Amino acid sequence: MQTVNGFFQASAGKSSFIRKMFEKGLELKARFGEDAVCDFSLGNPDVPPPAAAGAVLHRLADEAARPLALGYCPNAGIPSVREAIAAHLSKEQQLALNADDVVMTVGAAGALVCFFRATLEPGDEVIVPSPYFVEYGNYCGHFGGVLKPVPTKDDFSLDLDAIAAAITPKTRAIIVNSPNNPTGVIYSREELFRLFALVEAENARREKPVFVLSDEPYRAFAFDGAVVPAVMPMSPFAVVLGSFSKTLSMAGERVGYIAVSPKLSKADGGTLVSTLILVNRTLGFVNAPVLGQRLAAAICAETVDLATYDRRRRLMAEVLSDAGIEFIMPKGAFYFFPKAPGGDDLAFVDALLAERILAVPGSGFGRAGHIRLSCSVDERIIARAADGFKRAVANVCAK
Ligand code: PLP
Repeated sequence: MQTVNGFFQASAGKSSFIRKMFEKGLELKARFGEDAVCDFSLGNPDVPPPAAAGAVLHRLADEAARPLALGYCPNAGIPSVREAIAAHLSKEQQLALNADDVVMTVGAAGALVCFFRATLEPGDEVIVPSPYFVEYGNYCGHFGGVLKPVPTKDDFSLDLDAIAAAITPKTRAIIVNSPNNPTGVIYSREELFRLFALVEAENARREKPVFVLSDEPYRAFAFDGAVVPAVMPMSPFAVVLGSFSKTLSMAGERVGYIAVSPKLSKADGGTLVSTLILVNRTLGFVNAPVLGQRLAAAICAETVDLATYDRRRRLMAEVLSDAGIEFIMPKGAFYFFPKAPGGDDLAFVDALLAERILAVPGSGFGRAGHIRLSCSVDERIIARAADGFKRAVANVCAK
């Protein structure tokens, strides 16, 4: 079996496709100017946080001179913040949660790392429907976990037969990320019910359960009347995590959470929650940033202006259609995952680069033949890219 060090040493030489495009973007912007580059590579939310964030930060600034205002807090998070987030999640998840069910983390990323530390033994497997957010492999790789991508269907819905066939005695978790990065798909209630039925049947015959890890940082981004189903009422094995990186545009503040069903805590005597709290400390996170926790708790009922994202989504759909690029209209998140004309995603990304348009090859998400475009950019940039998309399509199709 590959060692954990070996896993990371092997990965260190290969920078991710997203990183490569980011670096390419910096180079192009330095050469041709910011305005000459249409950068759809990164998911860094650019829509301003809700206006209330400013007032909260002023209040926090006034309180900063108090003793311990900026000091360590309990490893699980500030008690009043855990309470506020539990109340918020109780509405979202349609299940009564209290502060003890929620651990504040360093973003959704920190929540994933804590979960894998708390549950994985080396060689344990984590199933993920692909295409998928590529960092999952690194997060479970820290602890010798092995990510097992299972392709979704052509419309990016869950292939439940394939997931069932991928489960082995070593499976410890199945990740569902809905709304999805990179496809923008929202899994239906029926799909999720079927997934949980599968997991419950599996768990009835094993000692260590398989968890369904619901990664929900894009929950608020649902369009055309789409609803993101609540997973917690579906099973005690549903563990929900998320963050305020995207919904409140505070990605740099690194505030997220992980919530465990009270039914599971009753059954395991609170072991999962207390292990998550312990590893949040011992992994060196210690606690989620305190100012960010207070800010998120004060405004968690709000979101950034979703209408801006919806306008961008519609405009990008128009631009891609006009260029003859095939795609499934995303119902959620802020990404498009269209087919690469000509079939070769690396070649199409290169053709786009020649037009100073930055996209990420689908190969970087475990699905070649597609590209990912992030709509965390102004509408003017999307409109400006229209001709470049057309020329790039003509270019790859001529070859
Ligand atoms: N999960 C998914 C699917 C993501 O796209 C991201 C970030 O882009 C994360 C988790 C991590 O988000 P954060 O740690 O900023 O909350």
